[in-house]
Amino acid sequence: MRLYEETLRADQERERVATAIEEVRSSLKGTFHGDLLGPTDPAYADARVIWNGMVARSPGLIARCADVADVQAAVRAGATNGVLAALRCGGHSLAGFSTCDGGLVIDLSKMRHVTVDPTARRARFEGGCLLGTIDTATQNYGLAFPAGVVSHTGASGLILGGGFGWLTRLHGLSCDNVESFTLVTADGTVVRADANENADLSWALRGGGGNFGVVTEFEVRLHPVTSVVLGEAYYREPDIPRFLRSWRDSLPEVPDNLRWSVSLRLAPQTENVPLEIRGRPVASVAAVWAGDSEKGLRYPDHILSIGSPVGVTTRVMSYLALQTIADHEFPPGRRYYTKSGYFKTLDDNSIDRMASSLVDIPSPDTQIELAYLGGATTHMAAGDTAFGDRNSPFVTNLLGNWADCSGDASNIAWVRSLFSELRPAMTPGVYINFMSSDEDDRVPEAYRDRWERLIGVKSRYDPNNFFRLNQNIPVRKGGSGAEGR
Ligand SMILES: Cc1cc2nc3c(=O)[nH]c(=O)nc-3n(C[C@H](O)[C@H](O)[C@H](O)COP(=O)(O)OP(=O)(O)OC[C@H]3O[C@@H](n4cnc5c(N)ncnc54)[C@H](O)[C@@H]3O)c2cc1C
Repeated sequence: MRLYEETLRADQERERVATAIEEVRSSLKGTFHGDLLGPTDPAYADARVIWNGMVARSPGLIARCADVADVQAAVRAGATNGVLAALRCGGHSLAGFSTCDGGLVIDLSKMRHVTVDPTARRARFEGGCLLGTIDTATQNYGLAFPAGVVSHTGASGLILGGGFGWLTRLHGLSCDNVESFTLVTADGTVVRADANENADLSWALRGGGGNFGVVTEFEVRLHPVTSVVLGEAYYREPDIPRFLRSWRDSLPEVPDNLRWSVSLRLAPQTENVPLEIRGRPVASVAAVWAGDSEKGLRYPDHILSIGSPVGVTTRVMSYLALQTIADHEFPPGRRYYTKSGYFKTLDDNSIDRMASSLVDIPSPDTQIELAYLGGATTHMAAGDTAFGDRNSPFVTNLLGNWADCSGDASNIAWVRSLFSELRPAMTPGVYINFMSSDEDDRVPEAYRDRWERLIGVKSRYDPNNFFRLNQNIPVRKGGSGAEGR
């Protein structure tokens, strides 16, 4: 009897959602400038796919917006008809938030226009841009916007979560370099947010993710960068713990021009990797110097002489080339699962545990990514932006990456188990852009003493929690809205 009632309820809900989506589609038809793609449209099969192959969902409608008016119409139609809505820029959400089953995807991939003002060192770009779109446009003028390290990543999701990459230590987080945001809020209104206008919203958008509206344009500061020095090396299995200790101890002293990252993994089976280490556990090191290249050449040389690395290379390269160098390592369609956290300092036990975990790593493409922030990220106080984790410089991301569903259980288990062993030594906090979909309970941890202020801003701009497919900030109780998903 209970099963029958549950099935009946599920059928009724499916019917309600299908009817609501039909309403959305017919209300947009005729005035929408972009594409409206439903399951029977030929372009739908490709359009529904996002980067993480673990997340295969079938939205009822993909509204591929062509302009701000389209975004307003899609938001209004979605909110009026009470449908679940996902926002999509580059579709790289590790948690898979940029799609949904049965609901509406507001897709900005047609909105990728970038305007550069080289004199003012400013750019304006639309909310659908990929990092590569912005780099290509700004590099025409020898300028760069500090963002992430893979060019096919979407800029909006990255910036709204914080955003870090090769230039972060020198120029700050991506969100620190935003002058103003233009967004469509849950009632379809276009709102501008900067330090003077809607300052609370501007604060919340710097780390608070996609909780507050659809950002249609960012105005950002740019910095002169045309070339960098890249040093790379591998440390063999027995040397990893010793190398990591030296790395940890040297980092607080290195200039902000240097970003020195480590990835613990099995060495790729590729020609550019020394034969003796291919497929073996290694610490793969990349040191990027941005700034005066004469000094820069000395620095990577110096740090890569620590211990006994193999396959050491140092070269000057264009910033654009650097920004695409890792693209092939994270192709769309593979299966990805992450757990992430911060360390104030890396203790010896954590180092040893990470090094020994490589022995039973289930996929040759899985990596333990270790980055050190510091530098310009600490020029702002924790409370200055919704992104507050500025004093725990070591960021660890356990990034499971494998080819097909037969590997799901072993890869997820490996990531979870290592994470639970490392967790006690981590400081509270998590970078929302490195979170998986099963970590709703960690969202308050990501914001801690900024949580109440974020709830206030969320309650004001999205009182019905329309924008809820994200690391969700709930609406204040007594507000008009539903909470959670
Ligand atoms: C290959 C790869 C490399 C990465 N490298 C880095 C890195 O170097 N540095 C770093 O900091 N992070 C990095 N990340 C993490 C990255 O920041 C997040 O995955 C981010 O969500 C990607 O943004 P997106 O626009 O592609 O996301 P999407 O999947 O398109 O969207 C994710 C979420 O962002 C929000 N969102 C998207 N567009 C908008 C918008 N226009 N307005 C409002 N909200 C919006 C929504 O909440 C949405 O659910 C990387 C991720 C991948 C997959």
